[in-house]
Amino acid sequence: MTQTSRPFLPFVKPEIDEETIQGVVDVLRSGWITTGPQNQQFEAELSEYFGGRPVRAFNSGTCTMEIALRIAGVGAGDEVITTPMTWVSTANVILEVGATPVFVDIDPVTRNMDLNLLERAITPRTKALMPVYLAGLPVDMDRLYEIARAHKLRVIEDAAQAVGASWRGKRIGSFGDLVSISFHANKNVTSIEGGALVMNNEDEAELARKYRLQGITRTGFDGMDCDVLGGKYNLTDVAARVGLGSLRRIESITDRRRELARLYFDAFEGGAAVRLGVGLPVKNFADSNWHMFQIALPLDNLSLTRAEFMAQLKERNVGSGVHYPALHLFTLYRGRGFKEGMFPHAERFGASTVTLPLFPGMSADDVAHVVKSVDEICEQYGHNR
Ligand SMILES: *Cc1c(COP(=O)(O)O)cnc(C)c1O
Repeated sequence: MTQTSRPFLPFVKPEIDEETIQGVVDVLRSGWITTGPQNQQFEAELSEYFGGRPVRAFNSGTCTMEIALRIAGVGAGDEVITTPMTWVSTANVILEVGATPVFVDIDPVTRNMDLNLLERAITPRTKALMPVYLAGLPVDMDRLYEIARAHKLRVIEDAAQAVGASWRGKRIGSFGDLVSISFHANKNVTSIEGGALVMNNEDEAELARKYRLQGITRTGFDGMDCDVLGGKYNLTDVAARVGLGSLRRIESITDRRRELARLYFDAFEGGAAVRLGVGLPVKNFADSNWHMFQIALPLDNLSLTRAEFMAQLKERNVGSGVHYPALHLFTLYRGRGFKEGMFPHAERFGASTVTLPLFPGMSADDVAHVVKSVDEICEQYGHNR
């Protein structure tokens, strides 16, 4: 075993700068700590970032997607098409509003929903499409909206991982239908927990505001009324201030992530891992925001399991993660009739993927150490070379 005195490198590490920490202290001392001026400012700066489209902030990416489905009028009897290769919340919110999730397998290269399979999944009950941009790599957005228009479908983009990503020079979120993002601690822009929805018009934004807080209309205490069933989804001003600090650094965050991804590709080139058949992500430095760097292990060529592989990484002080097991194989979804073999590409990727460390505070030396570790393990446990 390699002797190493390096500190443990987590696969992701949120970084809150000093200016933001001071800003949070100011909010805490201001006397207004829940949804208020910071939330308004956060929404205003998000809207500016997304080309002036209306934006409302919420306390999670999950509830943001659920509210988007409600705004799109998705409910009982409707089908929503999405991918099984995502965080489980994407499908859970479809169930939450009473609709039925319909899965389409992934393209094994992009690891996103295969748009060539999408049209076959559309039925008269299909109401919306819910694409996911895994690791911040968008799908072919032209094709996606072409299909949506042709079949008169709403699109709820699960762009949770895609803040800072773009498509042909246009920011994800600055165009399209309803675009949902997440500010969970591990996302490129974070408010610790939180989310935001980019919408088409002020009517949708007003509806979002109502769904966010008990359906209350704006009429003051005497004339208070509630006219839709809303929930409790508002973002605190403390969280909004954290989000503002993070959003204001988005350009440098994305640039740094792209640099680190490039270093990964360079370091992997010609090494034992690649020779053994380790799958690398699509080399896309124009559109992707490099939310994650996910490899796919060639398990047939390795004499250890993924869990053992990850334990080997940990012994070398390298953290890693799994994003994600194919969600149709979770008990909840098996109970709804899904099983092995239905989405083979998602299943294979879900069973073999490992997320390597990638966050702006990492050094080039960290990347070199990660790749050296992966190469070493492949060298030691690989066959078929
Ligand atoms: C993070 C994430 C979500 C959910 O966001 P939360 O803020 O954790 O609720 C949904 N979909 C994807 C693809 C995500 O990565």
